[in-house]
Amino acid sequence: MSTVLITGANRGIGYETARSLIAEGHTVWLGCRDKARGERAASELGGRFVQLDVTDDASVQAATAAFSQLDVLVNNAGLLEPSTHIGDLASSLVNHIFNTNVFGVVRVMTAFLPLLEKSTHPTVVNVSSSIGSLSKAADPHDEFTAYPQDVYRASKAALNMFTVQYAKAYPAMRINCVDPGLTKTDMMGGQVGQPVAVASAMVARIALLGPNGPTGQFLGADGVVPW
Ligand code: NAP
Repeated sequence: MSTVLITGANRGIGYETARSLIAEGHTVWLGCRDKARGERAASELGGRFVQLDVTDDASVQAATAAFSQLDVLVNNAGLLEPSTHIGDLASSLVNHIFNTNVFGVVRVMTAFLPLLEKSTHPTVVNVSSSIGSLSKAADPHDEFTAYPQDVYRASKAALNMFTVQYAKAYPAMRINCVDPGLTKTDMMGGQVGQPVAVASAMVARIALLGPNGPTGQFLGADGVVPW
């Protein structure tokens, strides 16, 4: 049985991934920025709460104190910006989204890699998106080619690059990114996409790939997602 940390686990895909992994008997820590929301989610699911705001160095560092070692880290916390024309982007918006979706993952990795190195089967899942795929974005026939959220797309592309680089630097770990697919969560206004249980089942499966699973890959419902 594994010790798991999921960032941004008080709702959406992170919450449901926590539910799946707890049901399989793993010890799951819900890393949430808000104490009340996080404690409620952990108590609903039978998990453990740790305060963790991925944009805050002190919070991330303090969260490590809850662990003696870590087997599985799911970097799930993420933000989507409101639809903005690329010609009107403010650098503050880019910084805000990257601070969560990219720098947040780096912050958590830097803090938790020493704890992952103590595991016999260290595994990292970076929750990305197929709309961060450069080749899909450049394909005029791709179903999401006209999707407007440019900062989010760029942030997930950057996350994918970090995933490849971390996987090369830590060959004893399984470090992959996953596209959970368009999913009906608050991020999508609760209106469009597949049920959240479908996305969380995929994230949970990749979290449990085990020491002989692939690493440095971009995985999705149909197998490997093009970079
Ligand atoms: P969601 O329902 O909006 O949930 C996002 C979660 O991230 C919330 O728990 C939120 O916490 C947390 N979060 C945001 N900023 C944080 C921070 N600074 N520190 C800690 N936690 C933070 O979104 P979701 O759809 O479940 O998305 C989860 C992941 O899947 C994201 O990385 C997203 O990019 C990815 N994804 C989603 C879809 C989709 O269609 N939904 C598709 C592809 C990829 P609060 O409650 O405190 O705000």
